[in-house]
Amino acid sequence: MKVITRKEVDVVTDVCCDICDESTSKHGRHSPQFGMLQAQWGYGSSHDGEAFELHLCESCFFQALTNLQEQRRGELMFSEQGFEPDPDFGRVQGHSQELI
Ligand SMILES: [Zn+2]
Repeated sequence: MKVITRKEVDVVTDVCCDICDESTSKHGRHSPQFGMLQAQWGYGSSHDGEAFELHLCESCFFQALTNLQEQRRGELMFSEQGFEPDPDFGRVQGHSQELI
């Protein structure tokens, strides 16, 4: 037997970018589209017990990605392996949306 009760639940209707504060859903016109920078530091790290979570709009996400690539270039440019720009830096392979 199903027992049915009406419940009020909180749902996420929008996610605002933590950098520029813009809506990532065009103010509810579509589902929120955002990237995340997330960390949970544990034993052995100097930030043990700390957690971080940032939500980034599409524009700020790709700016952050560009900044990280630039940091990588700085880290590797004088190393033995050197630096080669990677146009797919951070991209998850096989996760592209198929166009129908
Ligand atoms: Zn933003």
